[in-house]
Amino acid sequence: MSGSVLTLNAGSSSLKIALFRPDDEQPIATGMADRIGGDCVLTVKDASGTILSERRGAALQGATHEAVLQALVTILTEVRLAQDIAAVGHRVVHGGLVFTTPTLVGDDVLSQLAALEPFAPLHQQHNLAGIRAAQRAFPDALQIACFDTAFHRSHPFVNDVFALPRALYDEGVRRYGFHGLSYEYVTQKLAILRPELHAGRVIICHLGNGASACAIHDGQSIASTMGFSALDGLPMGTRCGQLDPGVMLYLLQQKKMTPDAIADLLYKQSGLLGLSGLSNDMRVLEASDDPAAKAALDYFVFRIRREIGGLAASLGGLDALIFCGGIGENSRLIRARVCSDMEWLGIAIDPVRNASNETILSAQLSPVAIMMIPTNEEIVIARAAFGMIDRQKALRLRGQGDLPPL
Ligand code: ADP
Repeated sequence: MSGSVLTLNAGSSSLKIALFRPDDEQPIATGMADRIGGDCVLTVKDASGTILSERRGAALQGATHEAVLQALVTILTEVRLAQDIAAVGHRVVHGGLVFTTPTLVGDDVLSQLAALEPFAPLHQQHNLAGIRAAQRAFPDALQIACFDTAFHRSHPFVNDVFALPRALYDEGVRRYGFHGLSYEYVTQKLAILRPELHAGRVIICHLGNGASACAIHDGQSIASTMGFSALDGLPMGTRCGQLDPGVMLYLLQQKKMTPDAIADLLYKQSGLLGLSGLSNDMRVLEASDDPAAKAALDYFVFRIRREIGGLAASLGGLDALIFCGGIGENSRLIRARVCSDMEWLGIAIDPVRNASNETILSAQLSPVAIMMIPTNEEIVIARAAFGMIDRQKALRLRGQGDLPPL
């Protein structure tokens, strides 16, 4: 086994793959399937972004995750890229309290992960469907799960708990935090770019369709805006962010909404889309002169600034503020608005650097370094998978057999 790694990110209606060779952090191919379960479209590109294959139509209409993964594998096989896949690395949203590092998946781990489905009902089942499909497509490959919650398991008790009866905490109702693979990537990159900042007090704002912010001290997560679910904290493309639980009671008791209808409201109809009534896409909102679009942006910016204040208080000060995610990496407007009038916290952005999207965005004399670091969750997964392949090889060399999948 010379060993390529396939990374797989399975969402409710999408599936993203990337194929990595050893010692190369640029994927040699990427694939994307959108609208799974409906009018599915499947695209595979090479390293330069050239489309190798695009498929749609009756054969993919209503196809399952497994059928879609099989179609992606068929394309990779046709273009002679699938033959030496030694490991498949999976993004898994929830690792609960147990899984704090990348984990080799066997039947036992799979059933432990399935037991966490009630904690992440909209995501976990799809991640696990991706693992099962990959087990069938690549029966000889290692399957490695990498968890979005793992990075945050270092939270101190006060940032891990809700003020509910203690029994609920003990059964797992905790602030898990998410986007951990993104925070891990950015933190590792910071350690290379600016080790003195990595050792200090850092806030990372991951602003994409999902959005959260995380307080990190010496590389360790100490607080995150996302909590028990990926709904809490910042408003997002279609998710509400922080919400008084009394609103939920009102929806249930007075408006007699069903739990499914509430889930749909909070996950799919709220956030930027709900407030603007226009779009969940930041580019559309920025280009619009509709007052409702402006109000949605005002709320988004206000909540980010408020959370930065709170996270800085958790850290006892701030050395670096980092933006990532589709909005954080591209929206000059949002970065400028988040950082305006923040000198009281030592935050001063340089408008020219911000406009030209540089890595360092802070003004010369800004006490807090402001940075833009493009995130890359796939690389974190690929590194973990290559690490597991290396461990397997080392065991075989020593004649100690294979890594036992747990
Ligand atoms: P996901 O959470 O699905 O991975 P992304 O990180 O890709 O999402 O972020 C998607 C968001 O980034 C969208 O709201 C999109 O409008 C926004 N975005 C992408 N490019 C730009 C840009 N040039 N200016 C402003 N917003 C942008």
